Amino acid sequence: MLGRATLDRAAHVRTDPEQLDALWADPASQVLLIDDGRLPVVDGERPHLTLVSPADIQSAGASERHLLGLGDDGRAVFMVRLAETADAPAGSSWTGLREVGVALDDRDAGIAVTAVALANWHASHPHCARCGQPTVIAEGGWVRQCPDDGSEHYPRTDPAVIMLVRDEDDRALLGHQSVWQDGWFSTLAGFVEPGETAEAAVRREVLEESGILVGSDPDDVVYLGSQPWPFPSSLMLGFHARAAAGTIIVDGVELAEARWFSRDELLAACTDGSVRIPSPISIARRLIERWYGEPLPGSWSRP
Ligand SMILES: [Zn+2]
Repeated sequence: MLGRATLDRAAHVRTDPEQLDALWADPASQVLLIDDGRLPVVDGERPHLTLVSPADIQSAGASERHLLGLGDDGRAVFMVRLAETADAPAGSSWTGLREVGVALDDRDAGIAVTAVALANWHASHPHCARCGQPTVIAEGGWVRQCPDDGSEHYPRTDPAVIMLVRDEDDRALLGHQSVWQDGWFSTLAGFVEPGETAEAAVRREVLEESGILVGSDPDDVVYLGSQPWPFPSSLMLGFHARAAAGTIIVDGVELAEARWFSRDELLAACTDGSVRIPSPISIARRLIERWYGEPLPGSWSRP
């Protein structure tokens, strides 16, 4: 799953320009280059990220470095976004996080997911939200400041809920989005709206998308964990929810179909390939397999 482990984010260093400079000048420090959201990956039996030395970065000005954190060995890891596409570092090729995320080890996955989320935010927020002027990077890449009005802008994370709904027979509700390939099924999901609790978002999204009413008892919506999902900037909050009533009526817009699956039905469908569930990189699969009780065969993943 994404976001398995992280560096020490060392937030105190971000506001210490001298220490930032010292880490950037340290040949032991490491830099992860990002090219339009893609990562430099050495393919093979055990794919891994290629990290280079700050000295290898010719084009990056000091203001364009982003401190991801410090490793167990005390070495700093920076992220630098390429302004223009260039060759990937020797031996590696540019690869999307969706493609490689599940194959990376815990440390690389943690670095990659943070780097991609931060890079996505910088790429899509170059201007001040107040006055429209171009902003500049500050605090080790974790803030953008407006030189005009002094306002500060912080990386954005959008909370979303993702939930496996279970009925009284302990069947699982899975949906098929209209834009997906035939046979792809997953848990329901949706964004938390302003002023809404995550639990209320679970109930609202399930009702809107499937017509199923989730129980009103606090125990009917149980939080099970979260996962950063930087496509482009979500934090997925995972739940199991208990259905109280309702008949499946899909909205026909987002969801084309929703179905109740017993464990036997889902195992049979995953085994013969008529149904495929999301890849092990996703919290959706964790929620499904937590209900099922053990790993299931087959998967799908968007490119
Ligand atoms: Zn401004």
